Amino acid sequence: MGKVAVGVAALAACAVAGVVVGRRVRSRRKWKRVVGVLKELEEACETPVGRLRQVVDAMAVEMHAGLASEGGSKLKMLLTFVDHLPTGSEIGTYYALDFGGTNFRVLRVQLGGRRSSILSQDVEQRPIPQHLMTSTSEDLFDFIASTLKQFVEKEENGSEPSSVRTRELGLTFSFPVRQLSIHSGILIKWTKGFAIEDMVGKEVVGLLEAALVRSGLDMRAAVLVNDAVGTLALGHYDDADTVAAVIIGTGTNACYLERADAIIKCQGHLITSGCMAVNMEWGNFWSSHLPRTSYDIDLDLESPNPNDQGFEKMISGIYLGDIVRRVILRMSQESDIFGPVSSRLSIPFILQAPLLAAMHEDDSPELKEVDKILKETLEISEVSLKVRKLVVRICDVVTRRAARLAAAGIAGILKKIGRDGSGGVAGGRSRSDPEMRRTVVAIEGGLYTRYMMFREYLHEALNEILGEDVAQHVILKVTEDGSGIGGALLAAANSSSGVDNVQLL
Ligand code: ADP
Ligand code: MG
Repeated sequence: MGKVAVGVAALAACAVAGVVVGRRVRSRRKWKRVVGVLKELEEACETPVGRLRQVVDAMAVEMHAGLASEGGSKLKMLLTFVDHLPTGSEIGTYYALDFGGTNFRVLRVQLGGRRSSILSQDVEQRPIPQHLMTSTSEDLFDFIASTLKQFVEKEENGSEPSSVRTRELGLTFSFPVRQLSIHSGILIKWTKGFAIEDMVGKEVVGLLEAALVRSGLDMRAAVLVNDAVGTLALGHYDDADTVAAVIIGTGTNACYLERADAIIKCQGHLITSGCMAVNMEWGNFWSSHLPRTSYDIDLDLESPNPNDQGFEKMISGIYLGDIVRRVILRMSQESDIFGPVSSRLSIPFILQAPLLAAMHEDDSPELKEVDKILKETLEISEVSLKVRKLVVRICDVVTRRAARLAAAGIAGILKKIGRDGSGGVAGGRSRSDPEMRRTVVAIEGGLYTRYMMFREYLHEALNEILGEDVAQHVILKVTEDGSGIGGALLAAANSSSGVDNVQLL
Protein backbone atom coordinates (compact mmCIF):
# COMPACT_ATOMS: atom_id res chain seq x y z
CA MET A 1 0.00 0.00 0.00
CA GLY A 2 2.86 2.29 1.05
CA LYS A 3 4.73 1.44 -2.17
CA VAL A 4 1.71 2.22 -4.27
CA ALA A 5 1.30 5.58 -2.54
CA VAL A 6 4.94 6.45 -3.15
CA GLY A 7 4.61 5.40 -6.80
CA VAL A 8 1.51 7.55 -7.31
CA ALA A 9 3.18 10.51 -5.63
CA ALA A 10 6.24 10.10 -7.84
CA LEU A 11 4.08 9.91 -10.94
CA ALA A 12 2.14 13.00 -9.88
CA ALA A 13 5.37 14.87 -9.24
CA CYS A 14 6.62 13.91 -12.68
CA ALA A 15 3.36 15.03 -14.24
CA VAL A 16 3.49 18.38 -12.42
CA ALA A 17 7.09 18.88 -13.46
CA GLY A 18 6.11 17.97 -17.00
CA VAL A 19 3.30 20.50 -16.98
CA VAL A 20 5.58 23.20 -15.58
CA VAL A 21 8.28 22.49 -18.13
CA GLY A 22 5.68 22.33 -20.92
CA ARG A 23 4.19 25.63 -19.81
CA ARG A 24 7.60 27.21 -19.71
CA VAL A 25 8.44 25.95 -23.19
CA ARG A 26 5.10 27.15 -24.52
CA SER A 27 5.46 30.52 -22.84
CA ARG A 28 8.98 30.88 -24.22
CA ARG A 29 7.66 30.02 -27.65
CA LYS A 30 4.87 32.62 -27.31
CA TRP A 31 7.29 35.25 -26.15
CA LYS A 32 9.52 34.42 -29.09
CA ARG A 33 6.56 34.94 -31.42
CA VAL A 34 5.85 38.35 -29.88
CA VAL A 35 9.49 39.34 -30.12
CA GLY A 36 9.31 38.34 -33.77
CA VAL A 37 6.36 40.68 -34.29
CA LEU A 38 8.26 43.49 -32.56
CA LYS A 39 11.41 42.86 -34.63
CA GLU A 40 9.39 42.94 -37.82
CA LEU A 41 7.84 46.26 -36.74
CA GLU A 42 11.22 47.73 -35.85
CA GLU A 43 12.71 46.75 -39.17
CA ALA A 44 9.77 48.04 -41.19
CA CYS A 45 9.86 51.38 -39.32
CA GLU A 46 13.59 51.94 -39.66
CA THR A 47 14.55 55.48 -40.60
CA PRO A 48 18.33 55.65 -40.90
CA VAL A 49 19.55 59.05 -42.02
CA GLY A 50 20.20 57.76 -45.56
CA ARG A 51 16.56 56.86 -45.93
CA LEU A 52 15.45 60.18 -44.44
CA ARG A 53 17.59 61.98 -47.01
CA GLN A 54 15.76 60.08 -49.75
CA VAL A 55 12.48 61.33 -48.27
CA VAL A 56 13.91 64.87 -48.17
CA ASP A 57 14.82 64.66 -51.85
CA ALA A 58 11.44 63.17 -52.76
CA MET A 59 9.65 65.97 -50.91
CA ALA A 60 11.65 68.64 -52.77
CA VAL A 61 11.01 66.90 -56.11
CA GLU A 62 7.26 66.60 -55.46
CA MET A 63 7.16 70.26 -54.44
CA HIS A 64 8.63 71.19 -57.81
CA ALA A 65 6.13 68.97 -59.60
CA GLY A 66 3.16 70.36 -57.68
CA LEU A 67 4.26 73.93 -58.44
CA ALA A 68 4.70 73.17 -62.14
CA SER A 69 1.11 72.17 -62.91
CA GLU A 70 -2.25 71.43 -61.32
CA GLY A 71 -2.31 67.73 -60.50
CA GLY A 72 1.44 67.44 -61.18
CA SER A 73 1.98 65.78 -57.82
CA LYS A 74 0.12 64.31 -54.86
CA LEU A 75 1.27 67.50 -53.16
CA LYS A 76 -1.40 70.00 -54.16
CA MET A 77 0.84 73.02 -53.50
CA LEU A 78 -2.20 75.30 -53.34
CA LEU A 79 -1.83 79.00 -54.05
CA THR A 80 -2.89 81.14 -51.10
CA PHE A 81 -2.61 84.59 -52.71
CA VAL A 82 -0.94 85.68 -49.47
CA ASP A 83 1.90 87.67 -50.99
CA HIS A 84 2.74 89.85 -48.05
CA LEU A 85 2.87 88.91 -44.41
CA PRO A 86 2.37 91.05 -41.30
CA THR A 87 5.45 93.10 -40.57
CA GLY A 88 4.54 94.87 -37.36
CA SER A 89 3.27 98.05 -38.98
CA GLU A 90 -0.33 96.82 -38.59
CA ILE A 91 -2.39 98.85 -36.22
CA GLY A 92 -5.98 98.72 -35.00
CA THR A 93 -8.56 96.16 -33.96
CA TYR A 94 -9.23 93.09 -36.07
CA TYR A 95 -11.35 90.00 -35.69
CA ALA A 96 -10.66 86.40 -36.58
CA LEU A 97 -12.68 83.26 -36.91
CA ASP A 98 -10.77 80.00 -36.57
CA PHE A 99 -12.82 77.15 -37.98
CA GLY A 100 -10.93 73.91 -38.28
CA GLY A 101 -12.57 70.93 -36.67
CA THR A 102 -14.10 70.19 -33.33
CA ASN A 103 -14.18 73.72 -31.97
CA PHE A 104 -14.34 77.09 -33.55
CA ARG A 105 -12.91 80.19 -32.01
CA VAL A 106 -13.65 83.87 -32.38
CA LEU A 107 -10.92 86.36 -31.58
CA ARG A 108 -10.49 90.08 -31.32
CA VAL A 109 -6.94 91.32 -31.55
CA GLN A 110 -5.61 94.82 -30.96
CA LEU A 111 -2.40 95.59 -32.79
CA GLY A 112 0.00 98.23 -31.62
CA GLY A 113 1.88 99.09 -34.81
CA ARG A 114 5.15 97.43 -33.86
CA ARG A 115 6.43 93.88 -34.37
CA SER A 116 5.19 91.49 -31.68
CA SER A 117 2.97 94.20 -30.22
CA ILE A 118 -0.36 92.52 -29.73
CA LEU A 119 -1.88 94.88 -27.18
CA SER A 120 -4.71 92.61 -26.22
CA GLN A 121 -6.51 89.61 -27.45
CA ASP A 122 -9.87 88.17 -26.50
CA VAL A 123 -10.86 84.69 -27.43
CA GLU A 124 -14.01 82.70 -27.17
CA GLN A 125 -14.17 79.03 -28.01
CA ARG A 126 -17.34 77.16 -28.88
CA PRO A 127 -17.84 73.52 -29.81
CA ILE A 128 -19.47 73.09 -33.20
CA PRO A 129 -22.86 71.46 -32.55
CA GLN A 130 -22.83 67.95 -33.99
CA HIS A 131 -26.03 68.41 -36.01
CA LEU A 132 -24.55 71.39 -37.87
CA MET A 133 -21.70 69.25 -39.22
CA THR A 134 -24.10 67.51 -41.58
CA SER A 135 -26.72 70.22 -41.95
CA THR A 136 -26.89 73.00 -44.57
CA SER A 137 -24.38 75.77 -45.23
CA GLU A 138 -27.02 78.33 -44.31
CA ASP A 139 -27.60 76.73 -40.88
CA LEU A 140 -23.86 76.51 -40.24
CA PHE A 141 -23.06 80.09 -41.21
CA ASP A 142 -26.12 81.52 -39.43
CA PHE A 143 -24.86 79.85 -36.27
CA ILE A 144 -21.33 81.21 -36.82
CA ALA A 145 -22.60 84.72 -37.60
CA SER A 146 -24.82 84.87 -34.53
CA THR A 147 -21.96 83.66 -32.29
CA LEU A 148 -19.72 86.28 -33.84
CA LYS A 149 -22.34 88.98 -33.34
CA GLN A 150 -22.77 88.13 -29.65
CA PHE A 151 -18.99 88.17 -29.24
CA VAL A 152 -18.64 91.56 -30.94
CA GLU A 153 -21.44 93.06 -28.86
CA LYS A 154 -19.91 91.75 -25.66
CA GLU A 155 -16.41 92.94 -26.57
CA GLU A 156 -17.45 96.37 -27.76
CA ASN A 157 -19.86 97.03 -24.97
CA GLY A 158 -18.71 100.23 -23.35
CA SER A 159 -15.57 100.53 -25.45
CA GLU A 160 -15.17 102.82 -28.41
CA PRO A 161 -17.51 101.65 -31.18
CA SER A 162 -15.87 100.84 -34.47
CA SER A 163 -18.56 102.61 -36.45
CA VAL A 164 -15.92 104.64 -38.25
CA ARG A 165 -15.17 101.78 -40.55
CA THR A 166 -16.46 98.32 -41.25
CA ARG A 167 -14.96 95.74 -38.92
CA GLU A 168 -12.51 93.42 -40.64
CA LEU A 169 -12.16 89.71 -40.10
CA GLY A 170 -9.66 87.01 -41.00
CA LEU A 171 -11.35 83.69 -41.70
CA THR A 172 -9.16 80.68 -40.94
CA PHE A 173 -10.90 77.75 -42.56
CA SER A 174 -8.77 74.58 -42.34
CA PHE A 175 -10.29 72.40 -45.03
CA PRO A 176 -8.99 71.93 -48.58
CA VAL A 177 -9.91 75.11 -50.44
CA ARG A 178 -9.06 76.22 -53.96
CA GLN A 179 -8.31 79.90 -53.47
CA LEU A 180 -9.60 82.34 -56.06
CA SER A 181 -8.01 85.33 -54.35
CA ILE A 182 -6.78 86.17 -50.88
CA HIS A 183 -10.35 86.67 -49.75
CA SER A 184 -12.23 84.02 -51.63
CA GLY A 185 -12.02 80.30 -52.29
CA ILE A 186 -14.01 77.22 -53.16
CA LEU A 187 -14.39 74.26 -50.83
CA ILE A 188 -12.84 71.25 -52.60
CA LYS A 189 -14.04 68.62 -50.12
CA TRP A 190 -14.96 68.19 -46.48
CA THR A 191 -12.72 66.30 -44.04
CA LYS A 192 -12.79 65.62 -40.27
CA GLY A 193 -16.37 64.35 -40.18
CA PHE A 194 -18.12 67.28 -41.89
CA ALA A 195 -20.60 66.54 -44.65
CA ILE A 196 -22.55 69.64 -45.65
CA GLU A 197 -23.11 68.62 -49.23
CA ASP A 198 -24.56 71.88 -50.55
CA MET A 199 -21.33 73.64 -49.66
CA VAL A 200 -18.84 71.58 -51.69
CA GLY A 201 -17.82 73.60 -54.74
CA LYS A 202 -19.16 76.82 -53.23
CA GLU A 203 -17.27 79.99 -52.40
CA VAL A 204 -16.72 80.05 -48.63
CA VAL A 205 -16.44 83.77 -47.87
CA GLY A 206 -19.57 84.60 -49.84
CA LEU A 207 -21.52 82.19 -47.63
CA LEU A 208 -20.13 83.76 -44.47
CA GLU A 209 -20.76 87.31 -45.65
CA ALA A 210 -24.35 86.51 -46.63
CA ALA A 211 -24.91 85.21 -43.10
CA LEU A 212 -23.26 88.33 -41.61
CA VAL A 213 -25.69 90.48 -43.62
CA ARG A 214 -28.63 88.34 -42.44
CA SER A 215 -27.48 88.80 -38.84
CA GLY A 216 -27.07 92.57 -39.27
CA LEU A 217 -23.38 92.57 -38.30
CA ASP A 218 -21.26 95.11 -40.12
CA MET A 219 -18.16 93.04 -40.81
CA ARG A 220 -16.16 92.10 -43.88
CA ALA A 221 -13.87 89.08 -44.36
CA ALA A 222 -10.56 90.55 -45.55
CA VAL A 223 -8.78 87.19 -45.90
CA LEU A 224 -9.47 83.49 -46.22
CA VAL A 225 -6.58 81.29 -45.03
CA ASN A 226 -5.93 77.95 -43.32
CA ASP A 227 -4.22 77.16 -40.01
CA ALA A 228 -0.76 76.67 -41.54
CA VAL A 229 -0.90 80.04 -43.30
CA GLY A 230 -2.16 81.69 -40.10
CA THR A 231 0.75 80.18 -38.20
CA LEU A 232 3.19 81.43 -40.84
CA ALA A 233 1.70 84.92 -40.45
CA LEU A 234 2.05 85.00 -36.66
CA GLY A 235 5.53 83.47 -36.96
CA HIS A 236 6.59 86.18 -39.36
CA TYR A 237 5.04 88.91 -37.24
CA ASP A 238 7.09 87.73 -34.25
CA ASP A 239 10.24 86.96 -36.20
CA ALA A 240 10.97 88.22 -39.71
CA ASP A 241 13.23 85.21 -40.45
CA THR A 242 10.23 82.87 -40.45
CA VAL A 243 9.97 81.16 -43.84
CA ALA A 244 7.66 78.22 -43.21
CA ALA A 245 5.01 76.89 -40.85
CA VAL A 246 4.17 73.34 -39.91
CA ILE A 247 1.09 71.99 -38.14
CA ILE A 248 1.50 68.72 -36.26
CA GLY A 249 -1.69 68.13 -34.30
CA THR A 250 -4.72 66.05 -35.09
CA GLY A 251 -3.64 66.30 -38.72
CA THR A 252 -0.49 67.63 -40.32
CA ASN A 253 0.21 70.24 -42.98
CA ALA A 254 2.81 72.82 -43.96
CA CYS A 255 3.12 76.04 -45.88
CA TYR A 256 6.09 78.18 -46.83
CA LEU A 257 7.12 81.25 -48.75
CA GLU A 258 7.96 80.57 -52.37
CA ARG A 259 9.44 82.84 -55.00
CA ALA A 260 6.80 83.90 -57.51
CA ASP A 261 8.92 82.81 -60.47
CA ALA A 262 9.16 79.28 -59.04
CA ILE A 263 5.37 78.93 -58.98
CA ILE A 264 5.06 78.07 -62.63
CA LYS A 265 1.35 77.26 -62.47
CA CYS A 266 0.72 80.73 -61.05
CA GLN A 267 1.82 82.60 -64.16
CA GLY A 268 -0.74 85.15 -65.10
CA HIS A 269 -1.64 85.98 -61.51
CA LEU A 270 -0.27 89.22 -60.22
CA ILE A 271 2.09 88.81 -57.27
CA THR A 272 3.15 92.20 -56.05
CA SER A 273 5.86 91.26 -53.56
CA GLY A 274 7.75 88.66 -55.58
CA CYS A 275 6.67 85.71 -53.47
CA MET A 276 3.64 83.88 -52.16
CA ALA A 277 2.79 81.55 -49.29
CA VAL A 278 2.10 78.11 -50.72
CA ASN A 279 -0.19 75.71 -48.85
CA MET A 280 1.47 72.36 -49.46
CA GLU A 281 -1.29 70.08 -48.09
CA TRP A 282 1.70 67.87 -47.24
CA GLY A 283 -0.45 65.30 -45.46
CA ASN A 284 -1.02 63.84 -48.90
CA PHE A 285 2.71 63.52 -49.73
CA TRP A 286 3.77 60.07 -50.84
CA SER A 287 7.07 58.43 -51.76
CA SER A 288 8.22 54.84 -52.13
CA HIS A 289 10.99 55.71 -49.67
CA LEU A 290 8.53 56.05 -46.80
CA PRO A 291 8.93 53.08 -44.43
CA ARG A 292 5.52 51.42 -44.59
CA THR A 293 4.30 48.52 -42.46
CA SER A 294 1.40 46.10 -42.79
CA TYR A 295 -0.32 48.12 -40.05
CA ASP A 296 -0.17 51.27 -42.19
CA ILE A 297 -1.61 49.39 -45.12
CA ASP A 298 -4.53 48.06 -43.06
CA LEU A 299 -5.16 51.44 -41.44
CA ASP A 300 -5.31 53.04 -44.87
CA LEU A 301 -7.57 50.37 -46.37
CA GLU A 302 -10.01 50.63 -43.48
CA SER A 303 -10.05 54.44 -43.51
CA PRO A 304 -12.79 56.46 -45.21
CA ASN A 305 -10.12 57.90 -47.55
CA PRO A 306 -7.86 55.06 -48.77
CA ASN A 307 -4.80 56.13 -50.80
CA ASP A 308 -5.23 59.63 -49.47
CA GLN A 309 -3.17 61.49 -46.85
CA GLY A 310 -0.44 58.82 -46.75
CA PHE A 311 2.16 61.03 -45.01
CA GLU A 312 -0.41 62.24 -42.47
CA LYS A 313 -1.40 58.66 -41.65
CA MET A 314 2.19 57.93 -40.54
CA ILE A 315 2.70 61.16 -38.61
CA SER A 316 -0.28 62.93 -37.12
CA GLY A 317 -1.96 62.61 -33.73
CA ILE A 318 -5.18 61.07 -34.90
CA TYR A 319 -3.40 58.02 -36.37
CA LEU A 320 -0.37 57.26 -34.15
CA GLY A 321 -2.34 55.63 -31.34
CA ASP A 322 -4.22 53.54 -33.85
CA ILE A 323 -1.02 52.12 -35.30
CA VAL A 324 0.05 51.11 -31.78
CA ARG A 325 -3.39 49.57 -31.14
CA ARG A 326 -3.02 47.45 -34.27
CA VAL A 327 0.39 46.15 -33.19
CA ILE A 328 -0.88 45.22 -29.71
CA LEU A 329 -3.90 43.52 -31.26
CA ARG A 330 -1.70 41.39 -33.52
CA MET A 331 0.58 40.42 -30.62
CA SER A 332 -2.46 39.59 -28.54
CA GLN A 333 -3.83 37.38 -31.30
CA GLU A 334 -0.52 35.57 -31.76
CA SER A 335 0.07 34.81 -28.10
CA ASP A 336 -1.66 35.20 -24.77
CA ILE A 337 0.88 37.52 -23.17
CA PHE A 338 -1.92 40.12 -22.94
CA GLY A 339 -4.37 37.50 -21.63
CA PRO A 340 -7.49 36.73 -23.65
CA VAL A 341 -7.85 39.06 -26.66
CA SER A 342 -9.62 42.18 -25.39
CA SER A 343 -12.55 43.31 -27.52
CA ARG A 344 -11.39 46.89 -26.87
CA LEU A 345 -8.38 46.23 -29.09
CA SER A 346 -10.71 46.02 -32.07
CA ILE A 347 -12.17 49.50 -31.56
CA PRO A 348 -10.57 51.92 -34.01
CA PHE A 349 -9.01 55.06 -32.54
CA ILE A 350 -9.62 53.95 -28.94
CA LEU A 351 -5.98 54.68 -28.12
CA GLN A 352 -5.57 58.43 -28.58
CA ALA A 353 -2.23 60.23 -28.90
CA PRO A 354 -2.24 61.68 -25.35
CA LEU A 355 -2.54 58.12 -23.96
CA LEU A 356 0.22 56.92 -26.25
CA ALA A 357 2.40 59.78 -24.99
CA ALA A 358 1.56 59.02 -21.36
CA MET A 359 2.62 55.39 -21.78
CA HIS A 360 5.75 56.29 -23.72
CA GLU A 361 6.84 58.86 -21.15
CA ASP A 362 6.00 56.77 -18.08
CA ASP A 363 9.18 56.91 -16.01
CA SER A 364 7.90 55.05 -12.95
CA PRO A 365 9.95 51.89 -12.26
CA GLU A 366 6.83 49.71 -12.34
CA LEU A 367 5.39 51.48 -15.40
CA LYS A 368 2.22 52.30 -13.45
CA GLU A 369 0.80 54.60 -16.11
CA VAL A 370 1.16 51.91 -18.77
CA ASP A 371 -0.58 49.47 -16.45
CA LYS A 372 -3.41 51.93 -15.81
CA ILE A 373 -4.00 52.75 -19.48
CA LEU A 374 -3.87 49.09 -20.50
CA LYS A 375 -6.45 48.37 -17.81
CA GLU A 376 -8.75 51.35 -18.19
CA THR A 377 -8.68 51.92 -21.92
CA LEU A 378 -7.91 48.53 -23.38
CA GLU A 379 -9.28 46.34 -20.55
CA ILE A 380 -6.03 44.39 -20.42
CA SER A 381 -5.03 43.65 -16.85
CA GLU A 382 -2.42 41.80 -14.87
CA VAL A 383 0.37 41.98 -17.42
CA SER A 384 3.95 41.54 -16.29
CA LEU A 385 6.51 44.34 -16.22
CA LYS A 386 8.21 42.69 -19.18
CA VAL A 387 5.01 43.06 -21.23
CA ARG A 388 4.53 46.66 -20.12
CA LYS A 389 8.08 47.37 -21.30
CA LEU A 390 7.16 45.85 -24.63
CA VAL A 391 4.23 48.27 -24.94
CA VAL A 392 6.53 51.23 -24.28
CA ARG A 393 8.86 49.92 -26.96
CA ILE A 394 6.01 49.80 -29.50
CA CYS A 395 5.06 53.40 -28.67
CA ASP A 396 8.69 54.39 -29.09
CA VAL A 397 9.07 52.77 -32.52
CA VAL A 398 5.86 54.31 -33.90
CA THR A 399 6.46 57.80 -32.48
CA ARG A 400 10.11 57.88 -33.46
CA ARG A 401 9.29 57.04 -37.08
CA ALA A 402 6.58 59.73 -37.15
CA ALA A 403 8.83 62.44 -35.71
CA ARG A 404 11.74 61.57 -38.00
CA LEU A 405 9.52 61.66 -41.07
CA ALA A 406 8.16 65.05 -40.04
CA ALA A 407 11.77 66.24 -39.71
CA ALA A 408 12.49 64.95 -43.21
CA GLY A 409 9.46 66.89 -44.47
CA ILE A 410 10.79 70.09 -42.91
CA ALA A 411 14.25 69.47 -44.37
CA GLY A 412 12.54 68.93 -47.75
CA ILE A 413 11.07 72.43 -47.58
CA LEU A 414 14.44 73.87 -46.56
CA LYS A 415 16.07 72.09 -49.48
CA LYS A 416 13.48 73.46 -51.90
CA ILE A 417 14.13 77.03 -50.80
CA GLY A 418 17.89 76.64 -50.56
CA ARG A 419 18.13 76.81 -46.80
CA ASP A 420 19.42 73.29 -46.12
CA GLY A 421 23.03 74.26 -46.59
CA SER A 422 23.44 72.14 -49.72
CA GLY A 423 23.78 75.16 -51.96
CA GLY A 424 20.56 73.89 -53.53
CA VAL A 425 17.89 75.21 -55.77
CA ALA A 426 17.87 78.85 -54.78
CA GLY A 427 21.63 79.17 -54.66
CA GLY A 428 21.88 78.75 -50.88
CA ARG A 429 25.20 78.66 -49.17
CA SER A 430 27.60 75.83 -48.58
CA ARG A 431 27.66 73.82 -45.39
CA SER A 432 30.74 75.51 -44.03
CA ASP A 433 29.64 79.05 -44.86
CA PRO A 434 29.34 80.94 -41.60
CA GLU A 435 27.05 83.42 -43.32
CA MET A 436 24.23 80.94 -43.65
CA ARG A 437 20.97 82.77 -43.02
CA ARG A 438 19.03 82.30 -39.84
CA THR A 439 15.93 80.32 -40.77
CA VAL A 440 12.84 80.04 -38.59
CA VAL A 441 10.08 77.48 -38.97
CA ALA A 442 6.91 78.19 -36.96
CA ILE A 443 5.27 75.09 -35.51
CA GLU A 444 1.84 74.59 -34.01
CA GLY A 445 -0.14 71.53 -32.95
CA GLY A 446 -0.61 69.42 -29.84
CA LEU A 447 1.50 66.48 -30.96
CA TYR A 448 4.59 68.67 -31.24
CA THR A 449 3.89 71.03 -28.34
CA ARG A 450 2.67 68.50 -25.79
CA TYR A 451 4.58 65.30 -26.59
CA MET A 452 8.17 65.80 -25.46
CA MET A 453 9.55 62.57 -26.91
CA PHE A 454 8.02 63.36 -30.29
CA ARG A 455 9.61 66.78 -30.24
CA GLU A 456 13.02 65.45 -29.17
CA TYR A 457 13.05 62.80 -31.88
CA LEU A 458 12.10 65.41 -34.48
CA HIS A 459 14.92 67.75 -33.43
CA GLU A 460 17.43 64.90 -33.31
CA ALA A 461 16.53 63.79 -36.83
CA LEU A 462 16.70 67.32 -38.23
CA ASN A 463 20.19 67.66 -36.77
CA GLU A 464 21.21 64.35 -38.32
CA ILE A 465 19.85 65.29 -41.72
CA LEU A 466 21.22 68.83 -41.87
CA GLY A 467 24.37 68.32 -39.81
CA GLU A 468 25.19 70.44 -36.78
CA ASP A 469 26.73 73.31 -38.78
CA VAL A 470 23.57 73.95 -40.73
CA ALA A 471 21.08 72.89 -38.05
CA GLN A 472 22.33 75.61 -35.70
CA HIS A 473 20.89 78.19 -38.11
CA VAL A 474 17.49 76.53 -38.25
CA ILE A 475 15.12 77.39 -35.43
CA LEU A 476 11.85 75.58 -34.82
CA LYS A 477 9.61 77.96 -32.94
CA VAL A 478 6.38 77.02 -31.20
CA THR A 479 3.80 79.53 -32.41
CA GLU A 480 0.73 78.89 -30.31
CA ASP A 481 -2.64 80.12 -31.49
CA GLY A 482 -1.11 81.01 -34.84
CA SER A 483 -4.18 79.75 -36.65
CA GLY A 484 -6.44 82.32 -34.99
CA ILE A 485 -4.20 85.28 -34.30
CA GLY A 486 -2.49 84.82 -37.67
CA GLY A 487 -5.88 85.22 -39.36
CA ALA A 488 -6.42 88.56 -37.62
CA LEU A 489 -2.89 89.69 -38.51
CA LEU A 490 -3.44 88.82 -42.15
CA ALA A 491 -6.74 90.66 -42.11
CA ALA A 492 -4.80 93.68 -40.87
CA ALA A 493 -1.99 93.25 -43.40
CA ASN A 494 -4.57 93.01 -46.20
CA SER A 495 -7.12 95.41 -44.82
CA SER A 496 -8.81 97.97 -47.00
CA SER A 497 -6.83 100.66 -45.17
CA GLY A 498 -3.72 99.07 -46.70
CA VAL A 499 -0.11 98.66 -45.62
CA ASP A 500 3.10 98.68 -47.58
CA ASN A 501 4.15 95.48 -49.27
CA VAL A 502 7.51 94.12 -48.28
CA GLN A 503 10.06 91.96 -49.95
CA LEU A 504 10.08 88.66 -48.10
CA LEU A 505 12.85 86.58 -49.57
P1 ADP B 1 -6.00 70.53 -33.86
O1 ADP B 1 -4.89 69.86 -34.59
O2 ADP B 1 -7.24 69.69 -33.83
O3 ADP B 1 -6.23 71.94 -34.28
P2 ADP B 1 -4.24 70.75 -31.59
O4 ADP B 1 -3.23 71.46 -32.37
O5 ADP B 1 -4.52 71.22 -30.21
O6 ADP B 1 -5.62 70.63 -32.31
O7 ADP B 1 -3.77 69.24 -31.51
C1 ADP B 1 -4.52 68.33 -30.85
C2 ADP B 1 -3.94 66.98 -31.16
O8 ADP B 1 -2.63 66.91 -30.63
C3 ADP B 1 -4.72 65.86 -30.55
O9 ADP B 1 -5.68 65.36 -31.44
C4 ADP B 1 -3.66 64.83 -30.27
O10 ADP B 1 -3.47 64.05 -31.42
C5 ADP B 1 -2.41 65.64 -30.05
N1 ADP B 1 -2.14 65.82 -28.62
C6 ADP B 1 -2.73 66.66 -27.76
N2 ADP B 1 -2.22 66.54 -26.52
C7 ADP B 1 -1.27 65.61 -26.60
C8 ADP B 1 -0.38 65.01 -25.67
N3 ADP B 1 -0.35 65.36 -24.39
N4 ADP B 1 0.46 64.08 -26.12
C9 ADP B 1 0.45 63.71 -27.40
N5 ADP B 1 -0.38 64.21 -28.32
C10 ADP B 1 -1.22 65.14 -27.94
MG1 MG C 1 -5.39 73.68 -34.83
